[in-house]
Amino acid sequence: MNDPDCLFCKIVDGQIPSTKVLETDRVLAFRDIKPAAPVHVLVIPKDHHANTAELSRADAGLAAEVLAAAADVADAEGLADPGWRLLANSGDDAGQEVHHVHLHVLGGRPLGPMLSG
Ligand code: 5GP
Ligand code: ZN
Repeated sequence: MNDPDCLFCKIVDGQIPSTKVLETDRVLAFRDIKPAAPVHVLVIPKDHHANTAELSRADAGLAAEVLAAAADVADAEGLADPGWRLLANSGDDAGQEVHHVHLHVLGGRPLGPMLSG
């Protein structure tokens, strides 16, 4: 199931270190190496799926687990009240860099407009 050339599969396998904030049987959350906000956590399924469309079509239950984990991370990071943003890039126009689906949990300051330009 996992892709030996995929950066986030290597993080799941422990070949590349990460700062984990939440882990379940099927989901992992870890801090982004280049945070765009005071809280910037990536939430991924441990199984390799390229993007949100592939994940939700292949395993809707796992997609729901990833979404629930993102909410748990936001709660644990104290973001529920001030608010937070959930973001997923798919494909070139969105600037997706890592082709293992991931949800960005962002918060810790007012995040401004949804898009920069
Ligand atoms: P994308 O642009 O694909 O939506 O987001 C990829 C994210 O992965 C970026 O925010 C980038 O900073 C993060 N990232 C890239 N390489 C690593 C890494 O080795 N470790 C961690 N923790 N984050 C990474
Ligand atoms: Zn992967």
